[in-house]
Amino acid sequence: MNTASSFPAVPERYVVIGNPVAHSKSPFIHGSFARETAQHIDYRHLLAPLDGFADAVHAFREAGGKGANVTVPFKLEAFALATELTPRAQAAGAVNTLKFDGSRMLGDNTDGVGLVADIMRNASCSLAGKRVLLLGAGGAARGVLLPLLMESPAQLVIANRTLARAEELAAQARRHGHVSACEFSLLDGRFDLVINATSASINDEVPPIPAGVFAGGSLAYDMMYGSRPTVFLHFAAQHGAQTRDGLGMLVEQAAEAFHLWRGVRPDTQAVFAELRRAMEQQA
Ligand code: NDP
Repeated sequence: MNTASSFPAVPERYVVIGNPVAHSKSPFIHGSFARETAQHIDYRHLLAPLDGFADAVHAFREAGGKGANVTVPFKLEAFALATELTPRAQAAGAVNTLKFDGSRMLGDNTDGVGLVADIMRNASCSLAGKRVLLLGAGGAARGVLLPLLMESPAQLVIANRTLARAEELAAQARRHGHVSACEFSLLDGRFDLVINATSASINDEVPPIPAGVFAGGSLAYDMMYGSRPTVFLHFAAQHGAQTRDGLGMLVEQAAEAFHLWRGVRPDTQAVFAELRRAMEQQA
């Protein structure tokens, strides 16, 4: 670990690679983590051409880069490019964090632990024995499924617009817990935790779920975040749920990546509060 008194002359370099990428808050988050933990790093945005992800990664690594966060639309390409995968990246089938070490390129997926840390630690909501409804079966849902099951919920139902994708995901995860798949319209029963891992909120849409899915005292979690609550969180609040957006997940997944790279775990609360303040000022 580098300390303030033993900084290398040149900071070690990291990037977030995406397309588009300018909106990413990762440079702000990792810059804050680095100051807090006295790590001498340089972290920037890297816009890769849509057909040039692998070239961009190789060029950055050859120029001395130590690691990268990977965002839309490159998580599957990063999975294919990595020379080694962590078990959670393997389970997710997608990589959001790369670590370079000589010719080795380790691929990890920190989205799931980020979500679980935000729900359990920051929202003080335990998962053991709970009824969990996961909406969506895309990359984000895939990434969080195993970390959620590792916390031993009583039941986990995956509901998706395209039922076949939910069924496929449930079939893959069944050996890790009580998982089933369902269409939105056929959902019945009540859930203690309802996680929106669809991208419907981007278009101000709510997945067509029955209002009765929210059990008394339930938590509704939208992976999307922004300066205002999403329409899904509005809907959930109207039906009695407590609500939380995905800003904490973003900060927690970044902390996990930082730990993988630097071997030190940053405190997430100050960065989270600063980001929330900045977003509220934009509203
Ligand atoms: P994908 O494109 O991989 O998957 C999209 C999912 O949303 C699919 O299940 C799709 O269903 C469903 N969907 C899309 N539109 C609708 C709609 N109108 N109604 C119902 N379902 C819909 O996206 P990701 O999984 O990568 O991302 C999902 C969300 O999670 C995004 O909002 C993203 O910003 C957020 N996210 C947040 C993170 C954080 O750190 N907070 C990290 C990662 C993701 P179908 O299969 O039928 O197409």
